[in-house]
Amino acid sequence: MQFGRSWDSSCVKMITMDITKREQNLIRQIEGRCRHFNGAQNKCCKVGVVYLELTGEGFGSGLKLPCTSPDTFAKRREELGIKLSECSKIDRITHEEAVQEVKEIIISSDRMMKVCAAAHGDAISKGLKEGNGGRSSMPCPTECGGTLHYTVASCNGHMHAQCSTQNCVSWME
Ligand code: SF4
Ligand SMILES: [Zn+2]
Repeated sequence: MQFGRSWDSSCVKMITMDITKREQNLIRQIEGRCRHFNGAQNKCCKVGVVYLELTGEGFGSGLKLPCTSPDTFAKRREELGIKLSECSKIDRITHEEAVQEVKEIIISSDRMMKVCAAAHGDAISKGLKEGNGGRSSMPCPTECGGTLHYTVASCNGHMHAQCSTQNCVSWME
């Protein structure tokens, strides 16, 4: 969910939330998470610890994973009498780091929202919308000097866009 990467509609939902609530939600998600965590869909984390070797398989194994904030599922663990597994390589993100990361996310997401709005404005001015989709382009609203190429889907008016500058903006709605 960052400027310069692909976006989807969940990002748009997130950036239209109340600013304080949005900050608090994000801080809660980031603070306490191990900085080596890359998602439980992977076999091992960024420093090579195999998740299942840590938690074992079977009932409650996901609840034992120590990689996310200890508050996550804390109540459920308490109800079931399950404890977090110990990991010698754990390195939790501090509150100060989470606050800083959230500040950066919010700055980039607000910037991204303005880029999306500019692209939609350009499309509307050219008559591209639901029922009349098509392709067009405009100077990239980030002022990177590149060209933002976009398509508007006729079926729902959703936009796919990508800037010609590498690592600038791209998103799908
Ligand atoms: S807690 Fe351990 S297994 Fe989980 S991400 Fe951190 S280092 Fe890897
Ligand atoms: Zn650009």
